[in-house]
Amino acid sequence: MTVTVRFAPSPTGHLHIGNLRTALFNWLFARREGGRFVLRFDDTDAERSRREYADMIETDLGWIGITPDLTVRQSERLALYEAAAAKLRERGLLYACYETADELDRKRKRLAARNLPPVYGRDALRLTEAEREAYAAEGRRPHWRFLLPNFGDDPFSPTRTDIHWDDIIRGPQTVDLASLSDPVLVREDGSFLYTLPSIVDDGELGVTHVIRGDDHVTNTGVQAAIFEALGLAVPRFGHHNLLTALGGEGLSKRTGALSLRSLRKAGYEPMAVASLAVLVGLSGSIEAMPDLASLGTRLDFADVSASASKFDPAELDRLNAEIVHGLDYPTVAERLAAMGVPQDRAKPFWDAVRGNCAKVADAAQWVPVVFGDGFSAPNLSEDEQALVRAARDLLPAGAIDAGTWHAWTGAVKEATGRKGKALFMPLRLAITGVDHGPELAALLPLIGRERLLARLG
Ligand code: GLU
Repeated sequence: MTVTVRFAPSPTGHLHIGNLRTALFNWLFARREGGRFVLRFDDTDAERSRREYADMIETDLGWIGITPDLTVRQSERLALYEAAAAKLRERGLLYACYETADELDRKRKRLAARNLPPVYGRDALRLTEAEREAYAAEGRRPHWRFLLPNFGDDPFSPTRTDIHWDDIIRGPQTVDLASLSDPVLVREDGSFLYTLPSIVDDGELGVTHVIRGDDHVTNTGVQAAIFEALGLAVPRFGHHNLLTALGGEGLSKRTGALSLRSLRKAGYEPMAVASLAVLVGLSGSIEAMPDLASLGTRLDFADVSASASKFDPAELDRLNAEIVHGLDYPTVAERLAAMGVPQDRAKPFWDAVRGNCAKVADAAQWVPVVFGDGFSAPNLSEDEQALVRAARDLLPAGAIDAGTWHAWTGAVKEATGRKGKALFMPLRLAITGVDHGPELAALLPLIGRERLLARLG
């Protein structure tokens, strides 16, 4: 059977780096297995879901290099869920409940006072037809719960019912259905919560592997039971650890923290973001991988840490710089052109400055230094000015090329007796205006004789 995975965000905000971890675990696994990747928008919550967010999620995934084989929206598939709900109702597995949120809360508090777990006691199953009609006459609409298969003959006496699965990330897992409340599948207004549509879609789209965050482990016990009730093949499950911010707080689509969009706007390279999203919390070093295929070779599910992993922005900066230092000219050509770098000198310019750039955008600071005229001259001491004047007279004749810097500073050293920092720093300051930067040997040919002489006084 073709491996089929799905990434199923609710379009209620921007994807963050934790969501990307899930997307990439799915994508890299599918690519490795020659499988299919389905992007499924879990948008049955009409109030919070927005089309703009869905569109931006596609853009963000595209930036990383994830191109789904199929995209579906749950809001367009409601008939399938209605049919599944009808099937469960017919078999008495989906039952109407009329408790208000307040009533449920009171019930939970009563249980807590007796030191009992807050499991719904199935009181709605005791309602008579007449009581249900009375509620309907009052205008109360039911929500609907799935009857978990956790009892023998008496639904009011659940017995231990272990659901086992061999998690492809966490290994053998067990959830006891008797410890859980019957899940609400349909709200009072008739809209579906996430659970049933997800199961119906996984079945209908032939999903073979559900790979998601470990906040869903308990759901898996419930979902396996519903898959079985609907006669659908139960997929394999894999739950990965979650990412948190450095302080341990969870990431949320709604707060926008560490969103892919903000990272893109801040000038990070997609492979830096992707490398960190996957490699953090795996055994082995966190390094910048050049492309998704090589990142895929590093993803071994046996290596995933069991506890949450912290996202460290400093780590992202490090990976980004590593990637930028290795980017070849064609990859950045457009961005350099947008900074005003003349095309005929853009490649040597990039080769000269990339080692000094933590982000591609950092190249912009060297554009006026190399191609411009009016940068503010540094304050040089009398002594430094004298050195610069002496150097001006010693600038070799002829074309300025890669060997000029070496020959020139050799001559200046000879003539003035200066060496090391005392020799190089006044020259660097006079030529670039700053005390740090790319190799001057590479910059001189780009700056050219005319500008050079002008800057040397
Ligand atoms: N929309 C769900 C979520 O974002 C999907 C969970 C799942 O993958 O089943 O949590």
